[in-house]
Amino acid sequence: MMPTTWSFLRSLSLQVVSREQESSTKAGFLIRSLWIPAYAGMTAKQTFIMQGSVATLQQVIVNIKLSDIINNTQFKMQDTKAKNWYNNLEADLNLVPYEILSTILKKSLSKGGDYADVFIENTSTTFIQIEDSKVEKVVSGIDSGIGIRVIFGGKSAYAYSNDFSENSLLELANTVSKAVKQEDNNTVIDFRKIKPAVDFNIKLRPEQVAVDKKILLIENANKAARGVSPKIKQVSIIYRDAVQNVCIATSDGVIAEDERIHTLGVIHVVAAEDDVLQTGYEPIGGFIGFELFEENPFDEIAANTAKKAVMMLSARKAPGGRMPVVISSQAGGTMIHEAIGHGLEADLAQQGLSVFSNKIGEPVASALITVIDDPTLPNKRGSFRFDDEAVPSQQTVLVEKGILKSYMYDRLTSMKDKTISTGNGRRESYKHRPIPRMTNTLIASGDSPPEDIIISVDKGFFVKKMGGGQVNTVTGEFVFEVSEGYMIEKGKTGEPVRGATLIGNGPEILKSIDMVGTDIGFSIGTCGKDMQGVPVSDAMPTVRIPDIVVGGDVQNRY
Ligand SMILES: [Zn+2]
Repeated sequence: MMPTTWSFLRSLSLQVVSREQESSTKAGFLIRSLWIPAYAGMTAKQTFIMQGSVATLQQVIVNIKLSDIINNTQFKMQDTKAKNWYNNLEADLNLVPYEILSTILKKSLSKGGDYADVFIENTSTTFIQIEDSKVEKVVSGIDSGIGIRVIFGGKSAYAYSNDFSENSLLELANTVSKAVKQEDNNTVIDFRKIKPAVDFNIKLRPEQVAVDKKILLIENANKAARGVSPKIKQVSIIYRDAVQNVCIATSDGVIAEDERIHTLGVIHVVAAEDDVLQTGYEPIGGFIGFELFEENPFDEIAANTAKKAVMMLSARKAPGGRMPVVISSQAGGTMIHEAIGHGLEADLAQQGLSVFSNKIGEPVASALITVIDDPTLPNKRGSFRFDDEAVPSQQTVLVEKGILKSYMYDRLTSMKDKTISTGNGRRESYKHRPIPRMTNTLIASGDSPPEDIIISVDKGFFVKKMGGGQVNTVTGEFVFEVSEGYMIEKGKTGEPVRGATLIGNGPEILKSIDMVGTDIGFSIGTCGKDMQGVPVSDAMPTVRIPDIVVGGDVQNRY
């Protein structure tokens, strides 16, 4: 007989009181790891982690909010230390009153400096992974903390903590202030809370969906992928959701709050036959709740990903050579993100690490190309109401009809260029200082119907799906893998070919694009830069590149 969820959780919590870190078998449940570091006397509040085999966790609702667990056990009543710790956790975002925020900012600037800000974050996440048809991981976590930064003379000092006590925060402010070697100044800070320019609607908050439903979702996707063919040898599926609440207070007297809700599903399959391996990869997600999976049936996506991988097994090797290439709007974000996006981030441009450095006002692409970064788009993975420096989200035109108009700025880089932030200051968490990042970056649609673009090519190559790539941002040289490609013969897509790559130079290719489709397709990713990952999306229409090197089978030149 299974114990009820509540009695299970109650016994679990009581175990925590007596043994902070323990493996234990209890009533048929194996809890491999469960600990509360804050309770164990550490300052860390990364707290509620639970792992178990499928048999255990499938049958228990584990993602009940920490508040429910604690309110429903004697844990809270019995132990004031635990109670204080928990109260702090819940109250983090409201824990630091405006007066204290103001004091911290003044203290941060007490030895000089141009600007200071405080970033407070509370994020709860659920992560589930299935591999070899077994639920490998179910992890729920809450992490909260605070970061303080000072900008002075084009540099910044940053310190963070997850101790929210006033003394600790003042000490933190003192630490960053010491980095500044200027005369004392007397800052007056009068806060005003600002409203975002956009708002987003979440239909089904992920924490309101039981974890067994999330597990069922990825189990069904796993079955759907495996059901396609015995040639599907490996399937890995990930579900992740995160609710991130942030509050940012600046020495300009601005307070901004944002709640970002992200839901993500990732399918990864490997198909094999003889000595040929083909992988399929499909992530879906955004600034969206669990309705993501109502709008995008996950099992169908898993099956399609598997079907494509199996189909590519029997494809012949791609012929190499120069040829016209049509890149589908479904191809993914590799090109826009890697070949253009990173080079338009102000920090890289200022350091001369971008092929687009010092080119504002100059033509950098064909007149058909307009590039936009836009975090205001509803439900997209790179969207937010405020960036991580309290700047309201806004659309930024980076390239307009081929002319370079703007870089993506955060506060620090905008001060250096004597301009204002474009709202691209982002950070992975309170543990990181903000840097210029992409959000939802896109090439705007043009006026050629996508089918006309394919019809226009007599002999060439069609990139349906792009894989990963490598770019040298200084020179613009790139190599991109093609994960799904077809030959184009007399204006029609023909047989699939595998193992193709696109090799070229970003700016040269951008200048040569001569047809831009009326369509647009989004793809998602997590962009890594300076050891920080942030959620992004990229989008592009179908485009034609009249002449580019397709790497492939050299024995079989096209
Ligand atoms: Zn990136």
